[in-house]
Amino acid sequence: MDINKKIIMVLGSFFKRNKNKKEETVESHIEINTADCKGAECEKCVMACPNNVLIKQGDDTVVKNPRACKRCKVCEAICPNDCITVN
Ligand code: SF4
Ligand code: SF4
Repeated sequence: MDINKKIIMVLGSFFKRNKNKKEETVESHIEINTADCKGAECEKCVMACPNNVLIKQGDDTVVKNPRACKRCKVCEAICPNDCITVN
């Protein structure tokens, strides 16, 4: 996995709350297996999510707004490669 994919995965997966620094974060409950995800070639989950949680970012699909997720798991169901997990 190249460094850009690692960075995108980390940014998409974690928003940490650091009370000392007063930075707002939320740990994401949505994981995308970037090794199996077809990203821009697919985008089925991006189009299916009713809450615009998932977005296309370059050639990748990333979690943009985990707070908006209603845990409906439509994205899990539609992914042809079983690479989204909503916890
Ligand atoms: S569980 Fe539902 S709301 Fe959450 S990212 Fe998937 S499709 Fe969107
Ligand atoms: S549906 Fe699956 S393979 Fe397609 S972009 Fe979403 S996570 Fe990737």
